[in-house]
Parts: sequence; structure tokens; C-alpha cells
Amino acid sequence: MTKHIFVTGGVVSSLGKGLTSASIGMLLERRGLSVRMQKIDPYLNVDPGTMSPYQHGEVYVLDDGSETDLDLGHYQRFTNSPLTRDSNYTTGQIYLSVINKERRGEFLGQTVQVIPHITNEIKSAISKLDGEDVDVVITEIGGTVGDIESQPFLEAIRQFALDIGKENCLYIHLTLVPYLKAAGELKTKPTQHSVGQLRQIGIQPDILICRTERSLSRDERAKIGLFCNVPVDAVIEEKDKDFSVYEVPISLVDHGLDELIVRKLGLKAGKLMLDDWRDLIHRLRNPEHEISIAVVGKYSEHRDAYKSIYEALDHGGIAHKAQVRIQRIHSELVEQEGPERLLSGVDGVLVPGGFGERGISGKLEAIRFARVRGIPFFGICLGMQCAAIEFARNVIGLEGAHSTEFDKNCPHPVICLLDEQRSITQMGGTMRLGAHPAVLVPDSTAARCYGTLHISERHRHRYEFNNAYREQFAAHGMQVMGTSPDGSLVEVIGLPSHPWFVAVQFHPEFKSQPTRPHPLFAGFVGAAVQRRLSRSAEKTKPLPVASQGDGNRDGRSSQGATPTAQEDLAR
Ligand code: GLN
Repeated sequence: MTKHIFVTGGVVSSLGKGLTSASIGMLLERRGLSVRMQKIDPYLNVDPGTMSPYQHGEVYVLDDGSETDLDLGHYQRFTNSPLTRDSNYTTGQIYLSVINKERRGEFLGQTVQVIPHITNEIKSAISKLDGEDVDVVITEIGGTVGDIESQPFLEAIRQFALDIGKENCLYIHLTLVPYLKAAGELKTKPTQHSVGQLRQIGIQPDILICRTERSLSRDERAKIGLFCNVPVDAVIEEKDKDFSVYEVPISLVDHGLDELIVRKLGLKAGKLMLDDWRDLIHRLRNPEHEISIAVVGKYSEHRDAYKSIYEALDHGGIAHKAQVRIQRIHSELVEQEGPERLLSGVDGVLVPGGFGERGISGKLEAIRFARVRGIPFFGICLGMQCAAIEFARNVIGLEGAHSTEFDKNCPHPVICLLDEQRSITQMGGTMRLGAHPAVLVPDSTAARCYGTLHISERHRHRYEFNNAYREQFAAHGMQVMGTSPDGSLVEVIGLPSHPWFVAVQFHPEFKSQPTRPHPLFAGFVGAAVQRRLSRSAEKTKPLPVASQGDGNRDGRSSQGATPTAQEDLAR
């Protein structure tokens, strides 16, 4: 029988419930158990696909095309639990389903109510992950205990234990134990209050995980336990990690969490296998190189807007024993200050996905700078579309080349809508979404990174490379490195004459794991390390005597420029 763990959060939001839940999933998997992960979000949007990255951070896309909460990205990086549309539910989705059933007359004349109809719908969403091959389902309840929105979910998980037996359920509550400098003390009262609220609903947490900036003494843990009705050994400290989130599971093991869960749920678990994870922490802590990568995007001020990209860059760093310093650069700043000042010192430039015209010209300038200077460049989704626009304008010479997303009547629509997207009026869930296969061109940079010609990657976009321009791109040195299996859609483009210039229509960042860095991120970071090494070697060489021909029309040195760059500058 499948057992259930429910993770709730109290005191404040942004405590890292997603990371903690992912860490718990990972530890159970590494004790030989089969785990499924699930997030429930109490907002009314049917999915986060229609939400602004400023509000909600990244939208994480699954193989099956569902647009989900970014916590599922943590689940994917920490565990091997398969994620499907049943892994993320929102209030909007639950209500939509109940209301649709009501319209179909499925409630046979009953008054449709929060209890039992909404709570039944929630319970059935949770049970969907049960299975003969599943030992544990971990359900993370979004929001904070006490929020009006999360009430039906808490009520549903309370009932859940009634339905399947308390011995098959475990309630884990994540709280904050703040340190008050003025008093010189850790304060346990907010935790007491938040557990108090849970108990009012009828949920007695079995385990408390306490986020704290200072270690909790046994006395402090005993005090929390006493007031919250939890044994002291089930009060677990989770101290802030200023180094890496990948240390969270290790510290939870050090405080005995995996053993506690296994014991409380009576699970038949094996020995904990953490060697590869400890190895990756060791690599992170002992880098041999340090590189800086500029991520030039529109939502750069939001920490979570490109979450999976930042993580995947770190994974690329793990592959090359390199510490990756990420510079989040707002593309509008590139427009104001020019790329020279912002990008001269970086070892790689990445332009991520996005929507809308604001900041596009800054992205185009950043791409041109990277292309001309031979700086490793990685374009993702909108980043690839911008790379195509930049190349069309500045190398092929197609004036006014653009995407029809930004200029419907542009003279050269190098990026445009496919016919099946033209008639769509509804916004939610209507893009080209989810995993699609692609075939790579042998010996291309992309194929060399992947080490295979057949790949599958996740998409989230409406616009595509316009095939009418394929030949002109090829004639000027931009190679199509990958297409859909029937050859009709361009999925990867790149410059063979550049040290590393690859742009992809899909989102490789969603599939990267710290223990299995994505091949393109590993390739990109590897190229950035090479650039850093060769630049350091340059610096130690005696300076060449400058000849008159060394300047170019931008007044920059042409040293290090690739043939493509030189061609461009000579145009
Ligand atoms: N806005 C572009 C499109 O819809 C790119 C989307 C993205 O970068 N995810 O095609």
C-alpha cells in the first residue's frame, strides 16, 4: 500500500518547502524506495502558464506539456520521480473540474459544496499517484498555514488520514525559528502559533522541520516539541545554506530525518546511498576554475524567473569543476549602456526564453557582441529566435528582419507563427508544449555535446524559425544543427566557425540534474572555461606590438574574433 507524506509550511512563505520536499523525496529514493512527488497550489489560476514571471517565477514544463510550478523543477533535479500533469494541482483546476461535473449533472441534484465535493476532488487528485509500484507519495501544500486559500487542502489532507489510516500518513510541517539579534535569542513562538493553527484544523504534525539561521540546541528543540506536542527527536533543524541548496539533503540526513520517516511510516527501506551526491558537493566546494556567465534576459531582477537555467549552469560547472558566477543582466540595461561595458569581461553569454518586445534590442546587441567577439553563446527559445533575427539583420543583411511576435508586417519574418497557431485565441495551454523528438546533424556542435543524434526536449513557444530563410542562413554560415524528425521544424541553429555558438528552440534547462548535467549546458560551460583559460594565457604572454591594421570600425581590437566575426565586421 502506498504511504503518504504531506508537507505544509508555517510562519512565513518562501521557506523553501519545495526544496525540503524534494530533499525528502531524494533521501527516500536513495534508500531504495519508489517515490512520487506532487505540489498543490492554492491559487485560482488553472495553471501557472498564464502568470507573469515577476509574480510567480519560472513556469516549469513537463514532458506531457503541462505548465507547472517551479517547485517541480526542484523535484526533477533532486529525484527521479516521474512528473506528469497529476504532479501539480491548483485551486483553479480543482474547482474547474467540480464545476464541469456539476454542469454535466454528475452530482444528481445535490448541493455542491466545499466539503465534501471540493475536498473529495482534492483527495482523488492525491490518490491518483498511488500505485502498486509506489512506496511513498509526497504532497507539498503550497502557501502558509492560516491562509484562507489553503483551508480546503488542509481539510482534505486531514480527512485523508481518516480514509487510509493515520499509520499510513505522515504530516511534516516546515516552520521558521527566527533569531532576534536584540534579544540574542532564537524565537519559538511563531512555530508554536503555526502548529496551533494546524491543530485547530485537526492536524497534529508528526515532524517539525525548523528553518533557522543558527543551530538549535537540544533544549530549544525540546521546548518547541513540548509546546507543539512533538517528540524532541522529531524536531529537526534545517539551517540556512549559504553555499548550495544541494547541501540541504545532506544536512537533513545528519539530523536523522530519513531514518525518522522510515521508522514512523514503517517503510522497508535499504541503506542510504549518497556517494555521488557527496561527490558533487565536493566538486562544488573545490572548483578548479572560475568563470562568469552573463544571462541577458528581461526578468533578470527576479531571482526565480530563470531558475532552471541558473541551476543548469551550475550543473555545467559541476561537470567541469568550475565555479560559475552568474551575472543577471537586464536586457534593457544593455540597450542603455551598450554591451561593451557589461559583457567585455564575461566568458559566456546566455539569452533565455521570454515573451513580448520589451528588451529585445538589448538581447540582439548582446548576441551580436558575443558572435563578433567569439564569446561562447547559448540561446534558448526566445534566445534562439533573437539569434536568428540578429544574424539575418547583421550578417545576411536583411533589413527589418524580425519575429512576427513583435512586428506583424516586418519585411523579413525570419521567425513566424505556424498555421496551427494562427487561429488560436485562448491563451492558457495553447502553445507548442512538452517533449518533442529532434534529430541532430552529425558532427555539429550540438551533436558532439549530446553524443547522440536522437534527442527529446521540452518546448514552450508559439513562434518558429521560418523555413523560407533556411538557405540564406546556410549560405552565410549559420548551420541548422537539428530539426524535427520530419525535417519541417528548425530546432537547433549554430555557427560552426565560432568557438561555441548554439541556439535551441526548446528548453534544455528543464532536464538538467546536478548528478547528470545537461550536455548542452556542460558544452557551453566547457567552452567558457576554455575561453577563460586562453585569456589567462594571453595575459601572461608579452604584449604584441600593435600594427595599424589591428583596429576595426568599432574601434575594438579584432584579437580573438572568429572568421564569422571578421566577415561581419568587414561587411
Ligand atoms: N515568445 C516566443 C514564442 O512564443 C518564445 C517563447 C519562449 O522563449 N519560451 O515563440
